Amino acid sequence: MGDMDGLDVTACTNCPALVESRSRIVNGTGPADADVLFVGEGPGEQEDRDGEPFVGRSGTILDDTLREKGLARADVRITNCVRCRPPENRDPTGEELENCRGYLEAEIELIDPDVVVALGKVPSEHLLERDVAVTSEAGTIERATLGGADRDVLICVHPAATLYDRSQEETLDAALEKAAAMAGDGGAGGQSQLGDF
Ligand code: SF4
Repeated sequence: MGDMDGLDVTACTNCPALVESRSRIVNGTGPADADVLFVGEGPGEQEDRDGEPFVGRSGTILDDTLREKGLARADVRITNCVRCRPPENRDPTGEELENCRGYLEAEIELIDPDVVVALGKVPSEHLLERDVAVTSEAGTIERATLGGADRDVLICVHPAATLYDRSQEETLDAALEKAAAMAGDGGAGGQSQLGDF
């Protein structure tokens, strides 16, 4: 295990191939009391360069869709299953996912969100520990033990899926609508509505 400072992993060499391919460890961003926690697969090229999850085109799609639902990027927390960029954007291996799991669990426990949104197949399968057909299951909420408690996990398509298949826009839209509705249900925190800006 590497070093963690609050929500941030400051040093870690658990995955040799990823240590080789990363330029930095990409930690989650967003408030520590966020009601919604998005979990992506891992950093891509741009995330690795900027040090932030979901920048670039998928980030823009996510931001735009969130805004339509009355949520701002600044109100939600976004993190990844693995914090280091895999070479040639391959999927993280099962071993790498397991290596990074403790950090994700610690982050979920500290954030204590009302809903954990899995963005795409890899995070959905990792969090729910089963095979997931994301397109048909998007919008489904399932309970899972994460970060020391039973939590609601919302399956969602990856925002980039809408780039290749326009019909996925509706699926993404409906899932994020559900996430926005669940935000704040747990009491603590509270999202800023767009009208407040
Ligand atoms: S992906 Fe996670 S476990 Fe692997 S080296 Fe990076 S921070 Fe460590």
